[in-house]
Amino acid sequence: MVQKNLIDGEWIAGSEAFRNINPSDTNDVVGEYARASADDARAAIAAAKAAFPTWSRSGILERHAILRKTADEILARKDELGKLLSREEGKTLAEGIGETVRAGQIFDFFAGECLRLAGEVLPSARPNIGVEITREPVGVVGIITPWNFPIAIPAWKIAPALCYGNTVVFKPAELVPGSSWAIVDILNRAGLPKGVLNLVMGKGSVVGQAMLDSPDIHAITFTGSTGTGKRVALASVEHNRKYQLEMGGKNPFVVLDDADLAVAVEAAVNSAFFSTGQRCTASSRLIVTEGIHDRFVAAMGERMKGLVVDDALKAGTQIGPVVDESQLNQDTDYIAIGRQEGAKLAFGGELLKRDTPGFYLQPALFTEATNAMRISREEIFGPVASVIRVKDYDEALTVANDTPFGLSSGIATTSLKHATHFKRNAEAGMVMVNLPTAGVDFHVPFGGRKGSSHGSREQGRYAAEFYTTVKTAYTLA
Ligand code: NDP
Repeated sequence: MVQKNLIDGEWIAGSEAFRNINPSDTNDVVGEYARASADDARAAIAAAKAAFPTWSRSGILERHAILRKTADEILARKDELGKLLSREEGKTLAEGIGETVRAGQIFDFFAGECLRLAGEVLPSARPNIGVEITREPVGVVGIITPWNFPIAIPAWKIAPALCYGNTVVFKPAELVPGSSWAIVDILNRAGLPKGVLNLVMGKGSVVGQAMLDSPDIHAITFTGSTGTGKRVALASVEHNRKYQLEMGGKNPFVVLDDADLAVAVEAAVNSAFFSTGQRCTASSRLIVTEGIHDRFVAAMGERMKGLVVDDALKAGTQIGPVVDESQLNQDTDYIAIGRQEGAKLAFGGELLKRDTPGFYLQPALFTEATNAMRISREEIFGPVASVIRVKDYDEALTVANDTPFGLSSGIATTSLKHATHFKRNAEAGMVMVNLPTAGVDFHVPFGGRKGSSHGSREQGRYAAEFYTTVKTAYTLA
């Protein structure tokens, strides 16, 4: 059965369909999905526009109930949805279930936020006048998501959009439509009025582009590559629309001489290789001071030997496959580039054969890398990391900040002085002390600076900044 797009409350088949393939076993077709056309996207935008006046004035209890019901169903079905996610994206079952739980928690959080909408009442600077400051929804929000977090990223964009009274046109990455279809189905059954949430699965160059080109989309929230992010920005400036971008990272993880070695190695392995390194918050630059360098590299090699790379759904798998062939080629190309640049491939990097045909890659660790190499400057988005040797903390901080990106930044140290200094001076939106650079909470702001992000933060109460517009009203008493 082909899973359809949701436009104006109707499930629409469209003229084409595409297959969702399991990267752990390319013979396994996860499902077939209707491919939306540019006209479908325009119909979805028109439906969202028509639904906006009523939904934007809907009662907070109605919105609360829908988001709450959605959270409950996602959490009740976490094993099944987590398995679907792992099957289509390739992260391990534990990671797939964990991400699904997070999506449930996000809907739960924003269900609560519906009941906490508030404004401010202030005296005017002039006598006998009152001032009210309120937040109103922005209008039709376009949501464009990448493949690497197929349920959490859609959740952290859809939940606040609906909570604050916006209507939505949602385009997930074509590579992973299954999880997105499932949450749209859940929201639809939870009672959303027609047109409030529209799903258009299909190609970014067609469906996404039609969204960028529409004057009727008032805000676009995008997560994905830097290149596509720039297109979103340029098109949004053209239409004078609000936009928010979360793009790549080249996140540093600093290891100082005084670090607890076991803590540093665990955090580095998690940052660099878990979720197959396919996280925008992954660390691919391990910046290590010379006193601990050799011990750290040796311990990393030992730890990496034990990593189990296999089918995402198999019990015991710690690292699943790369998401598809083109990403696998990108990873192996960068491994070749690193060697040509003179870094030493100290561990891994070879393709692996498993029981089923899939995109299996042994996590790779380079040593003797410099921060000027392409492998240290460009986002690889796979299980590939480099160790960069530095003299001391000051050089480590300089190297950590010497990147066009600024999403997440980590440090392993037992020194309060260095931890405090690093938190203040790391040029990143998120800083981790003795923790992996990836792995964030659902109720606090997420986002970066420099080339990683543009616009206000996502998640937690800070999400209101993007999904609402502020009104200041004056009344003569
Ligand atoms: P892409 O930028 O290729 O795709 C992201 C989304 O944009 C997809 O839905 C894609 O559609 C769509 N898209 C592609 N072209 C257009 C267009 N012309 N107009 C509108 N939409 C378009 O990134 P990937 O999905 O390949 O994700 C990997 C990249 O995303 C990595 O580089 C990673 O760094 C970054 N990323 C950043 C995150 C962050 O929070 N900072 C989080 C996750 C990923 P289609 O389905 O056709 O691909």
